Amino acid sequence: MSLNATSISANLERLHNQIADICARCQRRPSDIALMAVSKMHPAEALLEAYEAGQRLFGENRVQEWQSKSETLAKLANWTNASRGTSSAAGSGGEFRMHLIGPLQNNKTTRAAKLFHAVDTLDSLKTAERLNAAALAQGKVLPVLVEVKLSPEATKHGAAPEELGALLAAVAPLPNLRLSGLMTVPPLSASAGEEAELARPYFQRLRGLRDENVGRHPSLTGLSMGMSNDFQAAIEEGATTIRLGTAIFGQRSYST
Ligand SMILES: *Cc1c(COP(=O)(O)O)cnc(C)c1O
Repeated sequence: MSLNATSISANLERLHNQIADICARCQRRPSDIALMAVSKMHPAEALLEAYEAGQRLFGENRVQEWQSKSETLAKLANWTNASRGTSSAAGSGGEFRMHLIGPLQNNKTTRAAKLFHAVDTLDSLKTAERLNAAALAQGKVLPVLVEVKLSPEATKHGAAPEELGALLAAVAPLPNLRLSGLMTVPPLSASAGEEAELARPYFQRLRGLRDENVGRHPSLTGLSMGMSNDFQAAIEEGATTIRLGTAIFGQRSYST
């Protein structure tokens, strides 16, 4: 299933309004919450449509998938114009940014450092060291979030909360990574429809971990949490980035 350009821009507009309403109720500023468009499993054209509607912050789960989409986008004339343009449209404004929000394998760190503006799923020192070396080779300082695994669910990636302090202490001195915050994905059951409230304790826990560690690591301010089904609770609990796929692009088709 694919949505047309009108619905992607309408979805973005509706979401900006919803975020503003939620913020008004919990006394936060909408400008403190970044809306990330998660374009995984959607074609490059959908991403371009969101870009043309003013969206600037994106997330993809897989290095390979973003590599092939970025090659497609590079061939689209309006993408080239768009990415050269200086206009800061409504939405996130500023430059195009693509974050890696899926697991990073050690053998993909070089490509990840090259293709992404930030990696939001760091969860081991070994990967951090490789990513640091790759970022150095690219001559860039890569912002990173540490993903924390807050549930025993086997399929979830991330560092254990008990190991977080040691991991942060080891990553902080790496000169080509900049620790920018924490990220989590609650267990699936916690984000399904009416049970969205079940995700709230995970958001509270992530915020608590950030608050515990930000004194030692002052750049660790970000909290990436909340998806299409539970972003309201995430904003109420302090999210600085919410990651929305379905709410912007519609259902993902896993058959192709
Ligand atoms: C797919 C995905 C999202 C977006 O999920 P939706 O429910 O479609 O909003 C957010 N974060 C991560 C890590 C994802 O893999």
